[in-house]
Amino acid sequence: MKTTLTAQTITRSRGVERLVRGQPTSDGAGVKLTRVLTQPLQRRLDPFLMLDAFGSDAASDYLGGFPDHPHRGFETVTIMKAGRMRHGDSVGNSGLLEPGSVQWMTAGRGIVHSEMPEQEEGRMAGFQLWVNLAAKDKMQPPAYRDVAPAQVPAFALEDGSTVRVVAGRTHGVDGAVQRPATEPLVLDITLPPGARFELPLPAGHNAFAYVYGGAAAEIGGTPVASDTMAILANDRDADGVRLIAPEGEGTVQILLVAGAPLNEPIAQYGPFVMNTPQEIQQAFADFQRGVLAA
Ligand code: MN
Repeated sequence: MKTTLTAQTITRSRGVERLVRGQPTSDGAGVKLTRVLTQPLQRRLDPFLMLDAFGSDAASDYLGGFPDHPHRGFETVTIMKAGRMRHGDSVGNSGLLEPGSVQWMTAGRGIVHSEMPEQEEGRMAGFQLWVNLAAKDKMQPPAYRDVAPAQVPAFALEDGSTVRVVAGRTHGVDGAVQRPATEPLVLDITLPPGARFELPLPAGHNAFAYVYGGAAAEIGGTPVASDTMAILANDRDADGVRLIAPEGEGTVQILLVAGAPLNEPIAQYGPFVMNTPQEIQQAFADFQRGVLAA
């Protein structure tokens, strides 16, 4: 049962700085996906490093899954919308990702994991977001947390809007995960036609909204089609963002992500994200020596 809360209001909405359509690509063992937040946007959207959206009814698009592979230096957040994936890792964790569940994995100094489909047909859909770690936190021990669908805090507003608070805090509701260094706010928002949702955001935080699932939204006065990311301007005099589901159209779904920038150098090569090229070379050397799976 979701709590119904009173809507908050903002004075002035951020505008949309740029609209981004994702790039179709594949990763793992041939899983088709759309890379929405790509490497050239990492600096602009610091502390977020990547957003992949996946969604297919064709088993051939996902059956290969993501066999064993390493990570170091950041966190991965998987938000499942449809289908089932099995997680296993070198720390000994195992978990089943099912519709509505969230997995938050801190790679820290290193982890080797796999994410394999636990179904041979039907729809598989969701997101994976990468959140950077501060330099001082990159070599922390790896950690892993599964959040069951019912354990993701959620609230409704009187107009029928619903918000699942994956991370951070809004409308007085604490999300499933809190991170003091980057203060990530990750919301999965559903707006019925005619709904208007105002979300307070700190001006210095970088933020984007990914519209998905069908109907277009109006964000900060700009129409945003489905399967499109709106990068929100860091307007100094804006105190949040206004999201509207236009009257007479379909239900709008938005993944809203905001966070405090780390303002540190970003060095990425594939599954490793560190601060310098030397640290990336070290990550490769450590992986080859088996250190990341230890
Ligand atoms: Mn991975």
